Amino acid sequence: MVRKPVMNITFWGVRGSVPAPLTARQIREKQIALIERIIKDGGTKKIFGAASANEAIEEYLKSLPPSLSGTYGGDTTCVEVQVADAPLILIDAGTGIRHLGREIMRRLIAREHVNPLCCDERTKHDIHLFFTHFHWDHLQGFPFFAPGFLAGNNRMNVHFYGKKTTQQRLADVLSGQQECPNFPVAWDDMPCDRFAHELHRLDRETLHVGAATITYQELTHPDAVFAYAIEAAGHKFTFATDTEHKSVPDSRLINIAKGSTVLYYDAQYAPEDYVGTKGSVTGNTPKFDWGHSTYEWGVRTALEASVPILILGHHEPARDDFQLEELLVRAQAYSRKMLSLPENKGKQLTVKLAQDGHQEILA
Ligand SMILES: [Zn+2]
Ligand SMILES: [Zn+2]
Repeated sequence: MVRKPVMNITFWGVRGSVPAPLTARQIREKQIALIERIIKDGGTKKIFGAASANEAIEEYLKSLPPSLSGTYGGDTTCVEVQVADAPLILIDAGTGIRHLGREIMRRLIAREHVNPLCCDERTKHDIHLFFTHFHWDHLQGFPFFAPGFLAGNNRMNVHFYGKKTTQQRLADVLSGQQECPNFPVAWDDMPCDRFAHELHRLDRETLHVGAATITYQELTHPDAVFAYAIEAAGHKFTFATDTEHKSVPDSRLINIAKGSTVLYYDAQYAPEDYVGTKGSVTGNTPKFDWGHSTYEWGVRTALEASVPILILGHHEPARDDFQLEELLVRAQAYSRKMLSLPENKGKQLTVKLAQDGHQEILA
């Protein structure tokens, strides 16, 4: 029997710091590598048969790594979390939210609930958007979020959640990026109804959004960051982007991630980027204190929190798809090494790279 999904997580933007669209040079390198691979696999006749049907081509491409068949994506952070019987939940509004906006417009035109896992008419047009923090790569997509511009019967209700600061109100932080002369449409002129929910840094609360329970935890990053754990019907997803490790796995993150099925973790840097080894992809300036982490600390955190699926994200913009896959191979080798230690006996860990369009379905 196929179980009904409790939570459907879709990644719409997984790039760190700044959007990094594929360059013409990178596309050409993929084309060369793909043609070389086809030749190595015996040529088109052997792979596809005489007919070369579209389906066979599609199947073959699916069997290849994303470096050859597509890309991990250049858009900055945005995650959609559909929870059964809850309004639609989003984390961050990086440039990936532009594509999600188009998908939400499709749902609205089809007269569907904006959350396909919910059928409550009262929340049909509601979106709950949780900000991890306010660095530009986590909010710059919102002015391009098409549903925010709908008026009349399709007007959206957007609930914003983010860190309360002493300097600025949440609404001011968000409206700031749309001030003249930075953007032609002022925040106040967007037709959607907006509700700001400020989250206190020190008194951690658990929030309820329909059937979903959401807990947040402050972690280490310039100007601070929140990790979010979203729970529903026995499933839990923890999202921890833009966080820097310490000399031991961060007990705050371990506590909030415990019991999760999936942990998303900031692995922007390879260990050599972090210390600034000569010849590293990010140059030889040490990235210590820049607010990001590595796959090694992601693996250690996932193991300590006993989370079986680790998704590495906030990809370094300087790293291309081939280099990301090299990092994944190293992360998986490190995970195997850590799993062989006596203290990790009986634990399991699958390590993946975050990719635009990738879905984790928890059922
Ligand atoms: Zn970031
Ligand atoms: Zn940041």
